Amino acid sequence: MDSKIQTPTGMEDILEEEWVFYEMIEKKAKEILKFYNFERIETPILEKKELFLAGIGERSEVIQKEMFTLKTEGETELSLRPEGTVPICRAYIQRGMKEKSQPVKLWYFGPFFRHERPQAGRYRQFWQLGLEILGSKDPVLDAEVIQIFYQILKELKIEDILIHVNCLGDKNCRPYYKKSLTQYFKNKEKSLCKDCQRRLKENVLRILDCKDEKCQRIVSGAPQILDYLCEECKKFFEEFLEYLESISIPYQLNPYLVRGLDYYTKTVFEIFESGEKKLALAGGGRYDDLIEILSKQSVPGTGGAMGVERLIEILKKKIKIPKEKKFLYLACLGKNAKAKALEILEILRKEKIECYFGLGKESLKSQLKLAEKFKVKFCLILGQKEVLENSIILKDMETGLQSTMKIKEAIKKLKQLIKKIQKT
Ligand code: AMP
Repeated sequence: MDSKIQTPTGMEDILEEEWVFYEMIEKKAKEILKFYNFERIETPILEKKELFLAGIGERSEVIQKEMFTLKTEGETELSLRPEGTVPICRAYIQRGMKEKSQPVKLWYFGPFFRHERPQAGRYRQFWQLGLEILGSKDPVLDAEVIQIFYQILKELKIEDILIHVNCLGDKNCRPYYKKSLTQYFKNKEKSLCKDCQRRLKENVLRILDCKDEKCQRIVSGAPQILDYLCEECKKFFEEFLEYLESISIPYQLNPYLVRGLDYYTKTVFEIFESGEKKLALAGGGRYDDLIEILSKQSVPGTGGAMGVERLIEILKKKIKIPKEKKFLYLACLGKNAKAKALEILEILRKEKIECYFGLGKESLKSQLKLAEKFKVKFCLILGQKEVLENSIILKDMETGLQSTMKIKEAIKKLKQLIKKIQKT
């Protein structure tokens, strides 16, 4: 096919069969997040590039390789949002949310963009369900974030999951860990993959996340952050784990868990599908220094995001969405009948009688054929004669019996008939 009429690589149309799942996830999330006192927010798809540079860190892979950026006429560089936390922190500062009662709890559901190499479960446009809690240092909130993701997954009947947690320390203790890690990997530099040799100079923690088998073997003997945590971080992490245990969240400690974005402090977590693919369904953590980096105000925060397409892939295998059932077809013949049909459709809509209809089709025969194909129970048929008499034909598709009556009467009768069917 001509490539100009194909979607850009890694981006898809979302058709009705898919929307049902997006809506299912959104509905479930909304219900749960409302209970937990979250407010919905939608930030713009585009933000100033400098916002992401400052928030995510110039040396992170998201910034270096994955952002879609465009230049406006005034030469401002705008980027398609690659993640949701930095824009939400921007909104918190810009909208003066510090004046509200703290913590401020926000959630979002929308598309994000990363210029990644597309593969199964990895796209260039993908949706995230995210939540952020800003303005509190309490580790109970880190547990609350995980609890909410866990409950959303459970209620969507996705129960075969693994939850990995770790603590990345803070600006007091992490430098000691990084130093020790750098020393360890320096001794093995030649055995590391090319990317990790670069990471060793730029961002040593990212080596822990490398998927290369040889690097993973080296990582398995690396020093662990938990041995380097300062008293404050250690106490924080212990309390956080106690909360998870008290609500029976099945977590695993993963001392090598790091995240793709550099702003995390203390808690990080990832939720995986426990099958063979081990795809991450959600991830997040605490980011106590992020708002300070953006605005000099000190506001702690914690949160996470879930990948909607990855959930949908699992849901599709589990749930068969039944085809929508409508009981009625409205057929019409001729210009006057079409005009009348438009009027009748509004009456049907207000009466909450769902129907298929044949506007745009010329022959009555093809309309009735469609009515049969849709297996409707009744047909309303409108021709020139009926329009002149303000009447309509009501046909029972099972018995084939039909009678002409006033439109009002037909609607009343239909309502009774449909009610009767729905009861049985
Ligand atoms: P992250 O903050 O990058 O860990 O993203 C959170 C979640 O979003 C991940 O656990 C994935 O489920 C999902 N996700 C991230 N990047 C992509 C992508 N390129 N395509 C599809 N889903 C993604």
